[in-house]
Amino acid sequence: MLKRNTKTKQLILDSLKNSKSAVSQDILLKELGDKVDRATIYRALNSFCDDGIAHKILSDDGKYYFAFCVNCSEKAHKHNHYHFRCLSCGKIECIPNEIEVKLPVGYQSVNFNGFISGYCANCS
Ligand SMILES: [Zn+2]
Ligand SMILES: [Zn+2]
Ligand SMILES: [Zn+2]
Repeated sequence: MLKRNTKTKQLILDSLKNSKSAVSQDILLKELGDKVDRATIYRALNSFCDDGIAHKILSDDGKYYFAFCVNCSEKAHKHNHYHFRCLSCGKIECIPNEIEVKLPVGYQSVNFNGFISGYCANCS
């Protein structure tokens, strides 16, 4: 059973990695639905976040999306970047530039949630 689990997780990880934009549980279910069930996808995606290989994005459509991390580790997740949702094709992307936000003295940031919607280069 453990082995099967690992294989399934690998399948989900591959889809996440190969996708050029962030994926939601629904997108993965459409892609892998004949092999993996919804709960397994959900668990796998959240465990990738814990492991430092993916990050979670709350979109302005109210859904969670997941993107593969490029320069993160389990201890040092850093995502001070905006996410962009295209209103035409629905794609959600990481905008790679890291943002530096100036906070008042004594404040420490833990999470940055920047979100932009508009039209991507293919659609505008
Ligand atoms: Zn990360
Ligand atoms: Zn687009
Ligand atoms: Zn991102």
